[in-house]
Amino acid sequence: METRTSPRIAAAPAAPDEPIGIYLHVPFCAHICPYCDFNTYAGAGQMALVPRYVAAMGREIARQGEEHGHPAAGTIFIGGGTPSLLTPDQIGEVIAACRDAFDLLPGAEVTMEANPNGLDAATAAGFAAAGVTRLSLGVQTVHRRGLRTLGRQHEADDARAAYVAARQAGFTSVSLDLIFGWPGQTLDGWRDDLDAVLAWPDGGPDHLSLYSLIVEPGTPFADAVARGILRPLDDDASADLYELAMARLDEAGFEHYEVANWARTPADRSRHNVTYWRNGSWAGIGAGAHGQWPGRREMEHLLPRTFIEAIEAGQSPVSNLDEVTPRMAMGETMMLGLRLIRDGVGEGAFAARHGVGLAEAFGPTIDDLAALGLLERDAGRVRLTPRGLMVANDVCARFL
Ligand code: SF4
Repeated sequence: METRTSPRIAAAPAAPDEPIGIYLHVPFCAHICPYCDFNTYAGAGQMALVPRYVAAMGREIARQGEEHGHPAAGTIFIGGGTPSLLTPDQIGEVIAACRDAFDLLPGAEVTMEANPNGLDAATAAGFAAAGVTRLSLGVQTVHRRGLRTLGRQHEADDARAAYVAARQAGFTSVSLDLIFGWPGQTLDGWRDDLDAVLAWPDGGPDHLSLYSLIVEPGTPFADAVARGILRPLDDDASADLYELAMARLDEAGFEHYEVANWARTPADRSRHNVTYWRNGSWAGIGAGAHGQWPGRREMEHLLPRTFIEAIEAGQSPVSNLDEVTPRMAMGETMMLGLRLIRDGVGEGAFAARHGVGLAEAFGPTIDDLAALGLLERDAGRVRLTPRGLMVANDVCARFL
């Protein structure tokens, strides 16, 4: 619930000397879901690479820490792919490498994504002992037909069991990913999804990320849509689902702090993702991982094998290096910062980071969007209005 008393997130953008985040990409999955366009790989041949991949990540973590002068880091996010396919020892190895290479701050948030398949309490406890502080479970839906439509290989009971296992293992911060807008989904079905997970034991999840299904080109989903086999929901139907979620989670006491993210308390917000939305810096390590540093963005080799071989040969696995010009950085500050619904972009923080006032950089655009009722100015910040929230992507895109 958005209350005036909740501590606010420091206004976007981040200052250049703030602690960075560390993103570690694990590109392996048990199978590839038909809607997924992440950089993921499945099959026995790929899984056989895991030990070399983990060792390569350790070396790359060390290299990046050295290159950037061992900066302070406040968060680690182990995403994928399916990081929970790694053993707790392997996860512990990459976290330890981060501690050696970066100045990992006390109380650092260490999030790991996990699939519900086979996550039992002992394995979850192993991840906790390895240093993971927060689990993000890819539940997607607890609707049986939805799980099949999305090509998921778990059942609703598996998702609940994984959540219970996380609690038994002592995780006090558990986030769930849900997808809405899948073909055939109804308002009642979506309400049932939300009601079901909110009623899980121990008070239910601490955090929810709700993603509207996007049919990405090149996926089997896109192919099925093109052939008329699947009909995605239209924008109006998806907007109805989004509004239903906002109302239901507000009623349940959650704070809607970012366009697609809700936290039970301010402490449950994803601190790592807040670094992205505040246009901060982060190290990106792993196949296809992106990192961002002042004035530049880099990407590592997409293919796990190429990533491994580069590192084993003593080379940098960075395959793309792009300059981020001052103008691009300002646009990205707006595009990302406005996603922080209540906190938005701060005039002081903007000027301090970019050396230009917000009015000078984007005055006419902000005025236009304010006149349309899509943006508002509030106590030195610019943020989305409730109407702007419903077309957030379009509003944010105006600044690029
Ligand atoms: S489990 Fe997640 S990352 Fe892996 S294919 Fe499915 S959606 Fe993509």
